[in-house]
Amino acid sequence: MQVLVYSTHPYDQKYLKVANQGKHELKFTPATLDEHTTGLAQGVPVVCCFVDDTLDAAVLQKLADGGIKLVALRCTGFNNVDLETAERLGVTVMRVTRYSPYSVAEFAVGLMLSLNRKIHRAFNRVREDNFLLDGLLGFDLHGKTVGVVGTGKIGFVLAGIMKGFGCALLGYDVYRNQACVDLGLRYVELNDLLAQSDIVSLHAPLMPATHHMINADTISHMKRGVMLINTSRGGLVDTKALIEALKEGQMGAVGMDVYEEEGHMYYHDLSNHVIADDVFARLLTFPNVIVTGHQAFFTQEALTMISETTIENISDFAAGRSNNNILRPEQAISPTTKEKE
Ligand code: NAD
Repeated sequence: MQVLVYSTHPYDQKYLKVANQGKHELKFTPATLDEHTTGLAQGVPVVCCFVDDTLDAAVLQKLADGGIKLVALRCTGFNNVDLETAERLGVTVMRVTRYSPYSVAEFAVGLMLSLNRKIHRAFNRVREDNFLLDGLLGFDLHGKTVGVVGTGKIGFVLAGIMKGFGCALLGYDVYRNQACVDLGLRYVELNDLLAQSDIVSLHAPLMPATHHMINADTISHMKRGVMLINTSRGGLVDTKALIEALKEGQMGAVGMDVYEEEGHMYYHDLSNHVIADDVFARLLTFPNVIVTGHQAFFTQEALTMISETTIENISDFAAGRSNNNILRPEQAISPTTKEKE
């Protein structure tokens, strides 16, 4: 099938071409999909999209008018897609569920270690021949309590790594994952998890029920000086409330690979531009905040699996085969038991 791959970077091309092996006719564009770039897909039956491409009702309508039959997401999150409109227009949406959960979980741990031991600050100090340790004091992870919000594939891997550090594990999810219980994770209500955890790591999908689940109220339940790690989706956190909590010292450290307004910034070189987003700019001023540009998935293994699954999805669609990666509108509202299998 002819496929237009939006938001393409050199690494996407490389891994998709290897996975494709000539099966489909892939065309690549660096353009992000939004209402101004739908025309690029005119007459093409498949678009392949990533996390910051816009697939709202207006964009889907234009794509459908141009002949799109399939949206092949090369990511697991699908909060950027209006699934109801897609179904109404007869556009199938598929995503990647088989990819490396280790990529994201390991990155979350990297943020924890960097924030705790101030490695980001130490790196800069030593480069300026400043070998003082003041301000670099951390704590042992051993014996601390880690709260895992969303105990699916990534949350499970994270829980296993943190168990290896000797941490106690608390979990919150709408479903219990027996594999997590077997690791020693104890399920509690969200507010109890927040009240008891020294580190909270977010791994739930973004949907109406989880939007701003970390807000002024829930932050007030957290331990003073808590560390928050968000490698899931920016919309899980009310960033303005987070900034207030950082200013007051309620929030001790924040590692965020995702940001609720990342869409127009991430995956672009804006170093010659002025960042107009004052909330984002304020975040960058805190010494105890590390912001990265949605890179937690970015390992060779994850790119290989993402590309292979994307090509398999397109091949299944072309052959009229159904598979578990087809998204249904009800999944935008709540996770299904099917997803848990
Ligand atoms: P998953 O579906 O295996 O796990 C998600 C878990 O969240 C499930 O157990 C689900 O029951 C739970 N959940 C759903 N609603 C909830 C709620 N209201 N409260 C608490 N938990 C809830 O998904 P996964 O593969 O572990 O990925 C998790 C998220 O990580 C994805 O949705 C995606 O947004 C994000 N992600 C980020 C990156 C990155 O590069 N930063 C890469 C991949 C995935």
